[in-house]
Amino acid sequence: MAAPPKPASFFESSEAGAADRELQRKLENASSRHLDHFAHVKAEYSDYEEERSHSRQIKEHAIAHLDELIVELTSKLEARGCAVFAAATTEEARDYIVSVARNTGARRVVKGKSMTTEEIGLNPALEDAGMEVLETDLGEYIVQLRQEPPSHIITPAIHLSKEDIGALFHEKFGIPYTSEPQRLTAEARARLREGFLRADLGITGVNFAIAETGTLVVIENEGNGRMSSTMPEVFIAVMGIEKVIPRLADVSHFLEILARTATGQKLTTYTNFIGGPRRDGEVDGPREMHVVILDNGRSTMLADPVLREALYCIRCGACLNVCPVYRHIGGHAYRSPYPGPIGSIVSPNLVGAAAAHLPFASTLCGACKDICPVKIDIPRILLHLRWKEAARSDPPRWPGPAARARAGARRFARLARHPSAIRLLGKIGAIALKPFARDGWIKRMPPPFSNWTRIRDFPRPRPRRSKLGADQE
Ligand code: SF4
Repeated sequence: MAAPPKPASFFESSEAGAADRELQRKLENASSRHLDHFAHVKAEYSDYEEERSHSRQIKEHAIAHLDELIVELTSKLEARGCAVFAAATTEEARDYIVSVARNTGARRVVKGKSMTTEEIGLNPALEDAGMEVLETDLGEYIVQLRQEPPSHIITPAIHLSKEDIGALFHEKFGIPYTSEPQRLTAEARARLREGFLRADLGITGVNFAIAETGTLVVIENEGNGRMSSTMPEVFIAVMGIEKVIPRLADVSHFLEILARTATGQKLTTYTNFIGGPRRDGEVDGPREMHVVILDNGRSTMLADPVLREALYCIRCGACLNVCPVYRHIGGHAYRSPYPGPIGSIVSPNLVGAAAAHLPFASTLCGACKDICPVKIDIPRILLHLRWKEAARSDPPRWPGPAARARAGARRFARLARHPSAIRLLGKIGAIALKPFARDGWIKRMPPPFSNWTRIRDFPRPRPRRSKLGADQE
């Protein structure tokens, strides 16, 4: 089952997602399941708001002292024999990792789940350098087989049903079709084990990096992160600068709140504390360990007093699960490694101008802010980014020339001071729109209104109710 061809623009991809009822059903099922589990474990906290505030305080402190903490982390890791590389850009990070792979003679790479490696486009770079790359997280493995990116930051294959996966395994492995999850998992496990035994290089992401002890924390549910970081002779951990936290004592708090908001678990199945390469006398662990600490636009976010809050994110994915836009169009529509509300904030900085329209892809309903375990005010940041985008008039960008948008807003403000004129225009508009309505919706209008209906449907104006309760056109 091949992945569908990549649409050319956000408009096309979101339109395709919005029209895909089957996709919405799958997203609805999976997100609701996560949210139900979350509601259950959340109730076990005596004061969940207090837990959120505590998470936020730790991250606030960490981001305010990022420079010192990175220096402390680096020196602790180096003292234990790790090579630490600070990468300013995705290119630097990729080049470093490819050079380590080449210098150590690696041919086969196993990877644990890592959104940061998605961000830097690592797999194609390693493959171009002649290496075989195997994603070992089950969801990542499935999307790798389909040659498509993950569609959720926690559940990469959220857009697929067990029937889709059964058909994929049948096509790729030639096994009899089954949609039974246990048999599909066993099939994947057997193949992945083979990959672990053959690999010479392991790569994972990092959930938290403890400056005080120089320890990397990787949490997961499948054991693949542990195997990727311990079985190959060489191991590389890749993290964004915002993953650093000050103290070991902070970790237990995050382990709980991250697992609960991400999947509704009390804790993930595996929690790996990684301190360095294998030492003399130890029987397992990598002979050589590298840590890549990536900036890639994060310093720019740090310098912006509103945007810096986004660096508190612990990548739990809960804001995606509650977002009506994400649940409607799916993760691939965002065309960024980071979809959903948090993706709409970080992508313009990390991916560049191609994602400048994403802050507009939100209803600003605030569900993301309400669920976020570190209390990130996502709607406020989205509005901030919209303002910044509108202020950039050279060249003007979506949703249209900023100057024109501002002039339109000014005209509307003048009009809104005259309620009788608004009422009259409303009546004229309702009559004029009537011929375009089909089944209660207006989906096509002639120019210049086609600019609206090209990307949005418009509800048919409601008949006004008379005082006697009868509808009036
Ligand atoms: S913004 Fe908040 S809810 Fe969204 S992924 Fe980050 S921590 Fe989770």
